[in-house]
This record gives sequence, C-alpha cells and structure tokens, in this order.
Amino acid sequence: VRIVVVGNGIAGYTALETIKSLKPSIDVSIVSDENAPLYSPCIFGNYLSGDLKRENLFLKNHSDYQRSGIKAILGQKVTEIDPHDKLVHLLHNKPLPYDKLILATGSEPIFPSINTNQDPRITVLKSIYDVDRIQSILDGSQTKNVIIIGSGPIGLEIAISLRKCGHSVTIIELLERIMPKLLDKNPASLLKSYLKENGVRLITGEKMMKISCDSRGLSVFTNKNEFFCDLVCICIGMQPRVKLAHDAGLELGSRGGIRVNSNMLTSNPNIHACGDCVETLDFLTGERCLSLLWHTAKLQAFIAGKSCLGFPSRYNGSVNFVVLEVFGKKVVSSGHVSSDFIGSSPQIFENDQLDGHLSLIKVNEKLVALQFFGSRLPKDLGRLISIIKRQFNKELKVQAANFINLPYY
Ligand SMILES: Cc1cc2nc3c(=O)[nH]c(=O)nc-3n(C[C@H](O)[C@H](O)[C@H](O)COP(=O)(O)OP(=O)(O)OC[C@H]3O[C@@H](n4cnc5c(N)ncnc54)[C@H](O)[C@@H]3O)c2cc1C
Repeated sequence: VRIVVVGNGIAGYTALETIKSLKPSIDVSIVSDENAPLYSPCIFGNYLSGDLKRENLFLKNHSDYQRSGIKAILGQKVTEIDPHDKLVHLLHNKPLPYDKLILATGSEPIFPSINTNQDPRITVLKSIYDVDRIQSILDGSQTKNVIIIGSGPIGLEIAISLRKCGHSVTIIELLERIMPKLLDKNPASLLKSYLKENGVRLITGEKMMKISCDSRGLSVFTNKNEFFCDLVCICIGMQPRVKLAHDAGLELGSRGGIRVNSNMLTSNPNIHACGDCVETLDFLTGERCLSLLWHTAKLQAFIAGKSCLGFPSRYNGSVNFVVLEVFGKKVVSSGHVSSDFIGSSPQIFENDQLDGHLSLIKVNEKLVALQFFGSRLPKDLGRLISIIKRQFNKELKVQAANFINLPYY
C-alpha cells in the first residue's frame, strides 16, 4: 500500500507519524510546498517578542524525517490530484501514485480585496516565511509603528509580542468589541482596558478601507481616519485551503471546509482529510464548524491515520478551547459567545474574583461556555471545562441520532 500525505503541518505530520507507528514498513510520503520541517505557529509570538530563539520554533529537523524512514518531498507544490488514476501531480516532479491519500492542506489567511502592490510591509501571519519577513522589517533598534487589522487571537498575539519589543502598536477592529468570537462584552472590555494600560492602542468600530504605499510612506485608511505606519499585519481570520480538494471533485461543506465523516473520510473512499482544511461537527450546536486549532488538527490527524489503515477510530466533533497570555494575565475561552445563541435566551453568570473575571454561559440549564480574564486561573477551571464537554457529549447523542442514516455524519 502506498500512502501520500499532502501538507506538512501538524495534521499532515501527525497522520504520517500515526501510520508509521502502526505499520512501520509501509510506503508513505509527505509533500509540502513549504521547505521547512514541522514547526509550530502557536509560538510565533514568543519568537517575535524575543523570548524564544528561531530554532525553537521547529518541532522536527530535516534529519528526523530521514531517520524515521519518511519520504519527505518538501518545497514542492501539489498542483492537482487525479482521483481516477490515483495520482498526485507535483509542480516540479513526476506524479506520485497512491493507494490512499491524506489531505492536510491547512488554512490560509483571509486577505481583503485591496491593492497592496505586493509591498512586503503589508503582511499576514501564517507561516515561518511571514515571521521572517516581519522580523526583517522590524529589525534594528528603531521603534516602528505597527498596525494590526483584526483583534482575534492571532492579532492580539502579535500586538503583545511587538509591544513587548517596544514598538508602537495599534489594533484596528471592525466591531465595537475585541476578540469578538471568543469573548462577551464584559471580559472583552476588561481585556481592552488592560491592553491599553500596557500601551497597545485599540481602535474599535472602524473599518479598514485601503492601504496606500506611496512616496509619503505606508498608511492605512479606515472609514474615519488615516494611520501612518511602517508595517501592516492583516489578521482578519483564516479559511480552509481547499482548492486541490475542490478541483479533484471532493465534496465541500457549508462552511467551506472539506466535508468528512467521523472517520475523517472525504466523499472519495481513498481520500481522508484532517486539520484546518476540513469542517466537522460542533458538539454543542450540532452544526458544521471550522475548528482551526492545533489540538483538534492533531486529534483529527490521528484518526485519519488510523482510519486510512482500516483501524476503527472516530472523531466526535470539535470543542473550542483557547488560552492566551496577555502581559502576565490570561484569557481563556471555551465554548461559544452568548451572541451565538440568539433566540435561545442564554443566561450569563459573572463572578469578579480576587484574581480575575469569570463568565459562565448557560443555555437551557446547561453550561455551554466559559470565559476568563485574570491573573490566576480559578481552581475549578478544569472542572468547569469538563462539565462543558459533558454537556457537549449529551448534545452529540441527540445529533448522532439525527445523522445516523446519512453518509456524512
Ligand atoms: C500565528 C498563529 C498562531 C496560532 N496559535 C494557536 C494557538 O495558540 N493554539 C491553537 O490551538 N492554534 C493556534 N493556531 C492554529 C494552528 O496553528 C492551526 O490550527 C494548525 O497549525 C493547523 O495545522 P494543519 O496541519 O491543519 O495546517 P497548516 O499548518 O496550515 O499546514 C498545511 C500545510 O500544507 C501545505 N500545503 C497546502 N496546500 C498545498 C499544496 N497544494 N501543495 C503542497 N503543500 C500544500 C501548506 O503550505 C502547509 O505547510 C495558530 C495559528 C497561527 C497562524
């Protein structure tokens, strides 16, 4: 059996590692358009702030692949998948035949439709190459003006890191509330004040309209103001990278991710998919969702690896769980924000403890979300999160019954 994995992020690598651990002698190759060995984007912030050396971003080095008997084809773009003849076409090499294929093509940053003239000072933060570009622009002792568009976790992470280095940082957020997908009004406003205390400038309720890069320099125009800067980092979200899957005729879901069943099998019986490129089921709402998180990508990949070898394995759906370190304090969010439950009358219980603010959200007497902002995590945080997960499981049983006769979920 020949197995090919496309994508060398945590999903692709974990799938491959799982396959190798179950069947060491199997013929398996991994292909990625990036030349770098496996690295973690989750710690880019620690590197940009100077707390971590560049080599510590890497979880593997090139020789690890050789040593484990993995055929790594790095720096090669896959241009097409031919599911009929079971071939993976590469830009600069002979096609690779496969019996089983795992797609782990990840996600790509959403980029607004503005003309940037490919100016390197207008960037996103996704790959190691983006980090290197940001580093090279900010290199040197001079304080730079940085504008970050979007106040989600990636935008905040880079803002905090660059502020720690002494740069002047402004975040522009379209909505009135920061971290809008993870925090409700009160924790968001506490976080906003704390960021301001620590020198991060926050502009909320303004929409970026254009970025101009002319002889005067770089500036961002919103619907209300103009901001001069040396670097713009656009962090307005990620979307699944699905072009290969789509062109190969695989079914996509309503959220734009590759549609998979609970074995991480796509609509083609020889192709599995996992990680940021897929959409799965949200435990709580029973709706399809994009998880776009490291730990879910890893778990899905483990299941895809097992499942493609024929071992029984099942992915039960995604639970949102995000922790962010903010100038010595912590932000935690698990579950959904209350605005996701409009129509179900969510109840919000708030508790200002000595060490922080804890919000619990209940819907139909069930604890469905938790948000925390403060200096020390509450002692019972783990217990509360496990209650949320148990609620999810109960929901899932109902959902599983509804989906039982369908080919996908
Ligand atoms: C800055 C940043 C910080 C983050 N912080 C956190 C965090 O703290 N906690 C958390 O849970 N998550 C975090 N995430 C999200 C997490 O990193 C992702 O969920 C995870 O890395 C997804 O892994 P993946 O393998 O599915 O996809 P990716 O990491 O996107 O890897 C996909 C790979 O496939 C390759 N590829 C795609 N198409 C092709 C093609 N046609 N040919 C060849 N190769 C191809 C890509 O180049 C890429 O190397 C963060 C993400 C970023 C960007």
